[in-house]
Amino acid sequence: MKQFKRPRPEFPKRAVITAGMPYGNKSLHFGHIGGVFIHADTYARFLKDRIGKDNVIFVSGTDCYGSPIVASHKKYKDETGSDISMRDYVHQFHMLQKKALADYDIAPSLYGSSAFDRSGQVHKEVSNKLFDALYQGGFLKKLTTKQFFDPKANEFLNGRQVIGTCPFEGCKSDKAYADECALGHQYQPSELIDPISILSGEKPILKEVSNWYFILDEYTEQLHKMVELQRKERKVRPMVLNITNEFLKDPAIYVTRKEQAKILEKNLVLENCTLIDEAKKPSVTYEFDSLDARDTGRALLESQEIRFRTGKTLVPFRLSGNSDWGVPVPNTDDLNDLTFWVWPESLWAPISFTQTYLESIGQDPKEWRKWWISDETKVYQFIGEDNIYFYGIAEMAMLLAYMGYGPNDDRDLSEVNFPRLVANCHLLFLDTKASSSGTIKPPMADELLNHYTKDQLRMHFLSLGLSKKSVSFNPKPFDPKAKENEADVTLKDGNLLTNVLNRLLRSCFYTSQKYTESIVPNLEISENILKTVEKGVLDYESNMAKQEFHRVTYNLDSLIRALSKNWAKEMKIADSNDDDQHRSQIIADTLYGVKVALTLLHPLVPESAEYARNYLNLNETLWSWDYIFEPITAHMDDPITHKLTFIEPRFDFFEKHESQLVKR
Ligand SMILES: [Zn+2]
Repeated sequence: MKQFKRPRPEFPKRAVITAGMPYGNKSLHFGHIGGVFIHADTYARFLKDRIGKDNVIFVSGTDCYGSPIVASHKKYKDETGSDISMRDYVHQFHMLQKKALADYDIAPSLYGSSAFDRSGQVHKEVSNKLFDALYQGGFLKKLTTKQFFDPKANEFLNGRQVIGTCPFEGCKSDKAYADECALGHQYQPSELIDPISILSGEKPILKEVSNWYFILDEYTEQLHKMVELQRKERKVRPMVLNITNEFLKDPAIYVTRKEQAKILEKNLVLENCTLIDEAKKPSVTYEFDSLDARDTGRALLESQEIRFRTGKTLVPFRLSGNSDWGVPVPNTDDLNDLTFWVWPESLWAPISFTQTYLESIGQDPKEWRKWWISDETKVYQFIGEDNIYFYGIAEMAMLLAYMGYGPNDDRDLSEVNFPRLVANCHLLFLDTKASSSGTIKPPMADELLNHYTKDQLRMHFLSLGLSKKSVSFNPKPFDPKAKENEADVTLKDGNLLTNVLNRLLRSCFYTSQKYTESIVPNLEISENILKTVEKGVLDYESNMAKQEFHRVTYNLDSLIRALSKNWAKEMKIADSNDDDQHRSQIIADTLYGVKVALTLLHPLVPESAEYARNYLNLNETLWSWDYIFEPITAHMDDPITHKLTFIEPRFDFFEKHESQLVKR
């Protein structure tokens, strides 16, 4: 085995990749594809090449349940007069989502759904088992709360059927629903400011209901420990840990100075809390010792009609609800006919999908633990930053409970193989946070393919650097302000293929056709090329291990441009001396560099890489990292008779979209 000067990253023996589940009330838009799915797919493909394709499972699926879907089904029926059933309504979008993924070469092992087919059945069983395990372990409690009820419609209202203003201090979300805002702040329905029912358009009333809750509030300490561990490991993006930490604060109440004056005036005493008063701030903070203490404080302020806001802190995590479109909760104690709230159920859906997939390939579904929990595996979850509360807090605490780690258990958490969250920042559209209700409609995934090839878009989205900050997607054909003579920035990254690598490959093929009878010269590779290639591979591997996809695209750019430069420089010398030996050396050197570059490109642009491989007449070992530094002959079925495929003049290995071709 070759020794390398710098340590190579370690990869798990097995891996599961998940991508956040799209809601089943629409097909996929650019944000699903460009913000999450292409990244997840690229990483799954990379790991398949790196650790073996049978050692990687990539799952996602349609999130079929939830109040947004109930609301849009109702809206669709009201607007069109259609009587389509809920199942049919959601199923059509599930099929459209599957097609959109395939159109981008996004290839999960299973794209399931929480309601349909075998994955839907398995999901019901998994949901039952998980609920029972949490219940038996003492991790659930019954709570009676107030839920919105629309007297005019005579219906309980769930989640998105109520719209108001988020009660969290400083919240910048544009929408808040019954008990969470668009940014994931959780609160009691009674805290929502100015609630309106979407059924009647009127202010709903509050009625008492009982539900099952997971004791998330008791896991604050354990989650603190998890964050500290992950900070030390330096494998999770700091942004993820910072956002997670935000949710782990002590329960607090914020009061403006004007309202605080009333508290002082009325001589009200808030107990079990510390007052934090920073001179320059417009409000003061009461930080409570416990959630109960805050509830008491809150009740006192409410009774005196003093206005306040509450801060982020962990509250019990609701598992059930009374929507009739959902996975049934096992009837337990005196609580009957409940369904799971969509969020918790979608957190364990990837486990249901893993089991379904294992069953489909003839393996024992019980083996899922080997993929999710054992020491040899790693789970990578690709999500948007808005969902960190659910995946990073609720999921991790439920996982601890499932594994028998109680809230006060002081066992070392470094024994727990936590799933790794790979959260991307927002993908904006034309510099704003896209919303389907805005004036400029963000493009759906399939619309983009009328203007770009899938590989141009894959390269572009990967290069944006969403691991660090929100970035805007500005496709020229969709930008009403774009100027005619301006270049389309969306094409920049794909040009590496359609221009630079295309020219280089062509040159290799034509020169070889002319001077070496399409035979790849079997020569020792020059030292400078070996060095360039090694650096390219190691940089790429290290950035892939950190899921820094934009850096991976820079590494590829440097490598391919270096090969191209070397070609131009050396071929000029060879041509001026009319030196066939030199020409052969350049062909051998360049094709070696190109074959490594193709292995590196394979996870990013699988179709383009396959296309080039076919013309090179190399076998599929080209995609395996077991051979990454091997000579090109390692990939030839028969090195003695091997030839490159003959190509005609003006041949293209990497094509542009037909709409981009210059009309002659
Ligand atoms: Zn909020």
